[in-house]
Amino acid sequence: MRDVMIIGSGPAGLTAGLYAARANLKPVLIEGLESGGQLMLTTDVENYPGFPDGVLGPELMASMRKQAERFGTEFVIGDVTSVDLSGSPFTINTSDTRYQARTLIIATGASARLLGLPSERSLMGHGVSTCATCDGYFFRDKPIVVVGGGDTAMEEAIFLTKFASHVTVIHRRDKLRASQIMQDKALANAKISFEWNSALDEVTDSDTGVVTGVIIRDLVQDTTKRLDVEGVFIAIGHTPNTSLFTGRLELDANGYIVPQGGARTNIPGVFAAGDVQDHTYRQAITAAGSGCMAAIDAERFLEHLPAETAPVTTAESV
Ligand code: NAP
Repeated sequence: MRDVMIIGSGPAGLTAGLYAARANLKPVLIEGLESGGQLMLTTDVENYPGFPDGVLGPELMASMRKQAERFGTEFVIGDVTSVDLSGSPFTINTSDTRYQARTLIIATGASARLLGLPSERSLMGHGVSTCATCDGYFFRDKPIVVVGGGDTAMEEAIFLTKFASHVTVIHRRDKLRASQIMQDKALANAKISFEWNSALDEVTDSDTGVVTGVIIRDLVQDTTKRLDVEGVFIAIGHTPNTSLFTGRLELDANGYIVPQGGARTNIPGVFAAGDVQDHTYRQAITAAGSGCMAAIDAERFLEHLPAETAPVTTAESV
């Protein structure tokens, strides 16, 4: 039995760990198999306050982890396989251990949807990005492409025109999915052009580790052509990592946890932080901030629990 368990090791989970540990709640944090979250896929992070010269994404995560560990956060490597939130205490199962906890902080994040190309994966963080706000600044006066036809793709394309010399939107159909207002703005922007009915086949050049262009396929003619670009933004949506909680926690139509004020969810004692409950801001700093909120909310929740639910056991093997 634990006072606080945290699932997820991105900025939200690690900040929740730091705060809960400093409140002497001895949190256990289950890292997940993709430890560190989305920042592990980036190179320079220039917008995290406190790093005037920028910091590498993986370095930032390693520092946050060290800081949470210093105050006593206990880390468990592995994925959660199931949870039982039907009553308190909550049960959290990994492949080999069952934990019980009086409060649970969910910081499982969201994953940017990817096309699944090997070159996309190998050049991620080296010219391929899933976040214009994070990485747009690195593409000053450079031609780039954005893949997708929804609101995110239009928003990112418009935002990227502040930096890039030209933005080409690659969309698999001849109609955009984005809202009319976003479509109108993007179509009217002189720095944006469109490749309709087109799919990204390959990002070059995996061998040198630098983006030099893309090969795109015309899906109607079944022909390919090359565009010389230096950046590729994949903007085909995000998937919140909430499959463990479907049917238990209140989720919105896109699968994000619906916050109920502060970091609270619809189940008392269960809190959510970071991208798993935020499809709007999606920044490391906002995730860290909400992790702090979740730990403070959990601490206050525990203060008001009746004494008879005090912790009695430790984790047991299953
Ligand atoms: P989305 O609406 O699901 O759009 C995803 C886009 O990516 C679609 O155009 C889709 O093509 C394309 N796509 C998906 N999988 C693909 C693949 N494998 N290969 C090529 N293209 C692929 O996602 P979103 O744009 O991230 O928006 C998510 C939600 O957030 C929406 O409700 C949106 O309105 C909202 N949002 C709002 C704002 C705003 O209001 N400012 C900003 C961002 C997001 P198809 O069109 O062919 O399906």
